Amino acid sequence: MRDIVKKEGFSFAFDPSACASCEGNCCIGESGYVWVKPEEIEAIANFLQLDQATFVEKHTRKVRFKRSLKEIQLDEANYLCEFFDLASKRCTIYEVRPSQCRTFPFWEHFINNRREVEKECPGILPLS
Ligand code: SF4
Repeated sequence: MRDIVKKEGFSFAFDPSACASCEGNCCIGESGYVWVKPEEIEAIANFLQLDQATFVEKHTRKVRFKRSLKEIQLDEANYLCEFFDLASKRCTIYEVRPSQCRTFPFWEHFINNRREVEKECPGILPLS
């Protein structure tokens, strides 16, 4: 049986098994931010066996008062998160990925933008 996820307030459900056949649509696209909180920085740095200062310097960028993971420009229109591996189509820090990634696609932004998330994510299902 598929493990379908629903969240109150959202007009769609999510099938996480769709990630297995996805090309990484939520990690590639127009330039954006993958926010990391201090405790997430600590967890990712530990996972990568880097000290926090080195991780922050090498893998994050400061945006006003917050930090985002760095991204890599693929072509004129597309960027990818530095931790997305194009060959395997997988997140290389999946076990310690930031909460922004864990909570996709149930982002406040998508509450009233179902069509937008449907275009991006093959795991979006109508509510049953
Ligand atoms: S941290 Fe992982 S899940 Fe989050 S955007 Fe980067 S590659 Fe994707």
